[in-house]
Amino acid sequence: MGIKAIRAYQVDLPLFEGSYNWSGGKSVSVFDSTVIEVETTEGITGWGEVCPLGPFYLPAFAAGVRAGLKELGPHLIGYDACEIGVLNQRMDAALQGHPYVKSGIDMACWDILGKAAGLPVCTLLGGRSGEDITLYRAISQESPEEMAGKVAKYRAEGYRRFQLKVGGDPDIDIQRIHAVAAKLEPGDRLVADANTGWSLHEAMRVVLAVRDVDVYIEQPCRTYEECLSVRRHTNHPFVLDENIDSLEMLMRAQRELAMDVVNIKISKLGGITKARQVRDLCVSLGIAMTIEDSWGGDIVTAAVAHLAHSTPEASRFTSTDFNSYVTVSIAEGAPQRVNGKMSASLTPGLGITPRLDVLGDCVVEVS
Ligand code: MG
Repeated sequence: MGIKAIRAYQVDLPLFEGSYNWSGGKSVSVFDSTVIEVETTEGITGWGEVCPLGPFYLPAFAAGVRAGLKELGPHLIGYDACEIGVLNQRMDAALQGHPYVKSGIDMACWDILGKAAGLPVCTLLGGRSGEDITLYRAISQESPEEMAGKVAKYRAEGYRRFQLKVGGDPDIDIQRIHAVAAKLEPGDRLVADANTGWSLHEAMRVVLAVRDVDVYIEQPCRTYEECLSVRRHTNHPFVLDENIDSLEMLMRAQRELAMDVVNIKISKLGGITKARQVRDLCVSLGIAMTIEDSWGGDIVTAAVAHLAHSTPEASRFTSTDFNSYVTVSIAEGAPQRVNGKMSASLTPGLGITPRLDVLGDCVVEVS
């Protein structure tokens, strides 16, 4: 089933809450997402999506997805969309690095493979584990009082896991963690995600100041070595995210017992294929996972649901329903949150149908 054409569409995804704020004053109000269409010679078309968290989170930016597709796309025309391993080798041979550029093509090819096989991607990735997937709600960085005030609202929407955006002034972050923790109920779980924002001495102060709080600490500092040092000085359960951007980094971090939970983002690793490889290794090694992406709309949310739902329940920590944060729906059939949970579609492929009127005209076409 040869690849005949690759097209990209640009969509703006505004936020219901106006903006999303995290460490170091970083903020996004309208996400710039790229939807990727892969058309095959057999008439089956697959869809993917890549949406960086702005240009200042990971080494990725929205226009880079489109520029990368222009560079990479011509090398893939004629290759079999269903031979995803071969296709990934081809992508890596044609373009060094740039995993986020490859992610949308890989995602679209999983959609094609599922449609061709008549099976949901979740089944192809190992099979459905459990009834549904537990979601977390990110609490955008605001004053301690505002952040604490949002817990009841999100809990009313069914969320029981809260990811607090810290990584700012450590004195205020300590207040943020205490203020939100005071609102928790039995069964809730709290993660303080600094998104690399603290220097080493700031991180050490924060973990000491919240030592009696039941909270996970996520990616406190920029470098892996700094995070490892914090990890070795705290008893809090520990999550690594930004630093785990390859299989090699996962292996190193596992050897050094650097974390209890890993955050797997599909585009950070280069697509479903590579995310699944890391996922499967984490399952075998006993490392729990947050399974998600950097950001996205309905298509990314569908892909996250398939990868998460095909992960053994015991290895899942949490996931995200990005499509509930944004005001624009780009596809029908995407998972919808029900009581803080979602599930993967039972329809072949990713189970989504793009809203072509929302996508508009393509901005990149390679054929
Ligand atoms: Mg994180």
